[in-house]
Amino acid sequence: MCLPRQQGGLGVMDPTTQQSALQLRWLHALMVAPFQANGSIALPYLAQLIAAQAPQDLTQFDYRLLIMFPQLRPSPMNRTDNPLSLILHAIDKIPKEFSQVVINAHTCLQLPLEAIYVHTDDIVLSRTSKRLLVSSTHTIDEGTQCIRHKQGSEIQIHPTLSTRFLRLVQNCRIMLQPFFIQTMIHPGLSATGQHLFVPVTHENVDSDPFLLAINLGSANPKMNTSPGQYRSKVSSPEATIRGTPSMWKKFWLMPLTHATRNIWIRIIRRKIPAKSTLHRLIPSYFQSPVCPICCTKDESIEHFLYKCPLKMVSGMNSWENYFSTPFSIEAIHEAIFELQFPQNNQASRHIEPAIIIASIITSIWRIHWTFVFNTVPFLS
Ligand SMILES: [Zn+2]
Repeated sequence: MCLPRQQGGLGVMDPTTQQSALQLRWLHALMVAPFQANGSIALPYLAQLIAAQAPQDLTQFDYRLLIMFPQLRPSPMNRTDNPLSLILHAIDKIPKEFSQVVINAHTCLQLPLEAIYVHTDDIVLSRTSKRLLVSSTHTIDEGTQCIRHKQGSEIQIHPTLSTRFLRLVQNCRIMLQPFFIQTMIHPGLSATGQHLFVPVTHENVDSDPFLLAINLGSANPKMNTSPGQYRSKVSSPEATIRGTPSMWKKFWLMPLTHATRNIWIRIIRRKIPAKSTLHRLIPSYFQSPVCPICCTKDESIEHFLYKCPLKMVSGMNSWENYFSTPFSIEAIHEAIFELQFPQNNQASRHIEPAIIIASIITSIWRIHWTFVFNTVPFLS
C-alpha cells in the first residue's frame, strides 16, 4: 500500500515511519544546545533525562552518544514505556554510514564495541560484548596519544569477553571501522598512505562527526534531514508488484468507478479470494481449492476470472460483441493483467476498451459472489 502509485501501490504514507519522521523536531533540538533558555521546559527536561543516564565513572561525556548508540543506553531507556521511546526509536531506524567520519581518541573510548567493527554474518558477539565500552579493550597510549590495545593486566572489565574481542581483531576475524583505525594512527602520519584524513586536534568527547554524517542536529537547518528525506532513508523496500510504471499510469487514468478499480487492482496484485488462495491460507476452513462452480479444477485467479468453462462462455460472448480481435485466453489475460486492450469493433468504437473489460470483470465478480453467498446458479 505504501509503494508509489507508479509502482502499483496506493501511495499511502507509512504511519509508523511518519510517526518517527515527526520526532525529528525533537531529535534536531536535542542535538543542538537543548539547555539554552528558549522558553521550552520540555527540551531541557528531556536532555536532562538522557544526560542522567551517562556512566558515572566518566569525567567527560557527550550525552548525545547515548541518543546515537543504543548499546550505550541502560536497558530501561530502550523500553517502550520510556518517555523517550519514540525519539530514540526514530534515530535507531536511520541507517548509520560512518565511513567518512573522523573522531578523536577520547570520543572513541566511550563508544560501545558494537559501533567499532564491520558487521558480518560470520561473527556474532554476545549482547554483553556489544555493550562493552571501547575503554574496556583499548586505551590511549601516553607517549603517542593514539589508541592502542590494552595488555593483559590492563584489562579489568569483563576480561574474558574483552580478551576474546581483541583476539578476534588480531586474527582478522573482525574488521574494525575506518574511524576507529584512524585513532590508532599518529596524527603526523595522517597525510601519508592511501587513506588520507584530517585528524581531530581537540580532546573533547564529541559526537558531532557522527551526527553530521547522518545529517542530524546541525545548527544550519538546511543541513538537517527533513521528514521527507527521513522517510526515504528508513523505508524498507516492499515486495515488488508486477507491472511497469507506464502500465500503472494507464491504470490510474482509466475512467473507472472506485468499486471497479478496487476489484481490478486486487486482480492485478493477485489479492482476490479465489478458492486456491483461501485453501492455502486457511485450509482448516476452506478444505478444498476446487472451483465451486464447475467443481472440476482448482480455482486459481485465472480460473476465477475466465478459465472456468461457464465464465469463459460468458466472457467470450461479451468480448465478441465489442471487440474485433478474436477471443483467446492470452488476449483476455493481456487485457486484464497488462492492460493491453484489443481492437473495438464498429459497433463499440465510441466505448473505451478499458470500460468494456471493466464491465466484464465486474459482471463476473458480482455473479460469482451471488452464486457463493446466495446460491444463485451461474448461467452463462
Ligand atoms: Zn470452475
